[in-house]
Amino acid sequence: MLPVSPYAEDTIVALATPAGTGAIAVIRLSGPEAIKICNKVFFGKDLEKQASHTVHFGTIRENDVIVDEVLATVFIAPSSYTRENSVEVSCHASPYIIHKLINLFIKNGARTAKPGEFTLRAFLNGQLDLSQAEAVADLIASRTEASHNMALKQLRGGFSNELKALRQQLIDFAALIELELDFAEEDVEFANRPQLKVLIGSIQSVIRKLISSFDLGNAIKNGIPVVISGKPNVGKSTLLNALLNEDRAIVSEIAGTTRDTIEDEINIGGINFRFIDTAGIRETSDKIEAIGVEKAYEKIRQSALVIYLFDPEETSAEELKAIVNELSTHTSGDSILLVANKLDKGNEAEWKKRYEGINGILFISAKDRIHLDLFTETLLQKAHADQLNNDETVISNVRHLEALQKTNEALDDTLRLMEQPFGGELLAFEIKRALHHLGEITGDISNEDLLDSIFTRFCIGK
Ligand code: GDP
Repeated sequence: MLPVSPYAEDTIVALATPAGTGAIAVIRLSGPEAIKICNKVFFGKDLEKQASHTVHFGTIRENDVIVDEVLATVFIAPSSYTRENSVEVSCHASPYIIHKLINLFIKNGARTAKPGEFTLRAFLNGQLDLSQAEAVADLIASRTEASHNMALKQLRGGFSNELKALRQQLIDFAALIELELDFAEEDVEFANRPQLKVLIGSIQSVIRKLISSFDLGNAIKNGIPVVISGKPNVGKSTLLNALLNEDRAIVSEIAGTTRDTIEDEINIGGINFRFIDTAGIRETSDKIEAIGVEKAYEKIRQSALVIYLFDPEETSAEELKAIVNELSTHTSGDSILLVANKLDKGNEAEWKKRYEGINGILFISAKDRIHLDLFTETLLQKAHADQLNNDETVISNVRHLEALQKTNEALDDTLRLMEQPFGGELLAFEIKRALHHLGEITGDISNEDLLDSIFTRFCIGK
């Protein structure tokens, strides 16, 4: 169990940089004795006499034997990440030195930090609220510009400030309703019902917007899943390679994928797309067992977009229509993107005529890189990436989504109650329920189990 009392009495230590050999490693100490413990083994200066935010060169010794030359950065409470006394020791990153130094600090009174304990302390000491603490984990894990921006925005508190302001207004109303209960015999109304309805309406509109931003936020965090499908030899691999070269992105074959589906991660416009190459759908049903086809459909259902790539020289309008119909039974028409490839050997006007009545076909050549920019623009558009460029808040955390949904339900119930001749008690109860769930997001309401489940997901040293 993680501690839940603020202002911890003990001092914790952990490696803050990745384990293994490197040029430099940083060992972090935090707690009331952090500077004192480091000072016991640090030679060169008296660290306890130094100002906050200063860096000092010295040696760390064990029984007068030098273990390493280091730089020690001193932070005096409350001006540190955890708001406790802290020291960051930069040493040479050999596993031997790291192990030796951490053991020395432990011998002198520190204890090993639990996963996420530095950030937990920052939260308990009021440096961060809960959604900001979670943003720290997201920031560390972010691999693309978009996911980085999203985490940074949450870390800066944009999202929690918005919720805090709303919560405060509701608290004020709850207080007025409680007051009415005290004067129950006199039948007075302090809380203006029409105003309360307006407030609930505006809170719900913010909450619903946040709820509906989750799909995008989640996609940004984990990559937008896109199924790329089409007959063999239509140019699927060529297209993926062309996109890869375009953006110099990282290709990775995600572990755990089977031969029927191969995933490539491609960074387009700062957003990670996960391209899932499935086995053929329609045309191969006689060759591949139904199981493979069913798997392809399952992937389509789980994906945000489906690209159907085809060679117009080999695809009639009837066939294409049949494919669109079939795909439409597994995904929304809006998420299907029809792409005609090998434009270098064909004629766009002629092809357009052939597929008259079928909307939204893109004509490209993967090999000669014709209209690839149009293709990527369309992808970004279909992924609603433009929502990211405006200042709207996007949520990406399942815990936040659930709390927002529960808040919304409680507010729905509050509105329903207001239509009926019930007393203030029930109303007060429902408003409190909504306040509780809103508070869960920022950590104004928290319990040990919740903190435990959030912070143990961090690595040690964070
Ligand atoms: P996949 O089986 O769908 O992955 O198809 P490939 O990407 O392996 O491509 C099959 C063949 O089509 C290869 O010989 C490619 O060079 C060729 N090809 C791919 N894209 C184009 C294109 O835009 N124009 C032409 N002319 N050939 C292409």
